Amino acid sequence: MDALAPRFGQVRAEITAACQACGRDPAGVTLVAVSKLHPARAVVAAAALGQRDFGENYAQELRDKAAALAGTPLRWHFIGALQRNKARLVVGTAALVHTVDSAALVGALAQEARRRGLTQDCLVEVNLAGEAQKGGCAPGELGAVLDAVAAAGGALRCLGLMCIPPAAPRAEDSRPHFRRLRGLLEEARAVPRPHVDLRELSMGMSQDFAVAIAEGATLVRIGTALFGERPPRQGP
Ligand SMILES: *Cc1c(COP(=O)(O)O)cnc(C)c1O
Repeated sequence: MDALAPRFGQVRAEITAACQACGRDPAGVTLVAVSKLHPARAVVAAAALGQRDFGENYAQELRDKAAALAGTPLRWHFIGALQRNKARLVVGTAALVHTVDSAALVGALAQEARRRGLTQDCLVEVNLAGEAQKGGCAPGELGAVLDAVAAAGGALRCLGLMCIPPAAPRAEDSRPHFRRLRGLLEEARAVPRPHVDLRELSMGMSQDFAVAIAEGATLVRIGTALFGERPPRQGP
């Protein structure tokens, strides 16, 4: 845990430098600290350094950590693959669900949001390279998923797009994918839809966040560079 302060300082400095290099205001980039598989005390330690936004990949782990840290002013982001039957674990707990990728998932989240009497903010994940093992809708399906959000009557609100580019040796390899996601955001903005207000781009991880910022990221999801290597996942 002792290493946390310098790591957070380093990443924040790199975010600021990446913004300055392309003339962006660092206030326009939110650092989402990806705490998946790290214990709740790592989140507490990061929160003590002023970190507010945390990302989790597993619905149960999100629910448990959010419960353990209830009463702290943290914003949780759900960034993992989401099964419809886990919607109840994330709705209302996650300030933002980054991984909505089908009309069916929109339906499950909207149903739970209605039951709880709240509006759930979300992003649509786009699978840009057609990778079968990854979540995300195909670029050609984006319009239909946004239509489903619009049809949910305010139970959901879509604020932007998210992507995870193919793993690649160089950060520069991610650039065309980030650029394409931004292009898809701009195209989709040209079609006005109720409850769809596209202004966020969730893109960039430890390896490539500086490139993502240059291409317009507003949310960067960083785990390893902040918390170190993740412990292995136990159980389901
Ligand atoms: C784990 C994960 C991250 C963080 O990855 P690092 O390489 O550790 O920074 C970001 N986004 C998603 C969707 C993840 O699953």
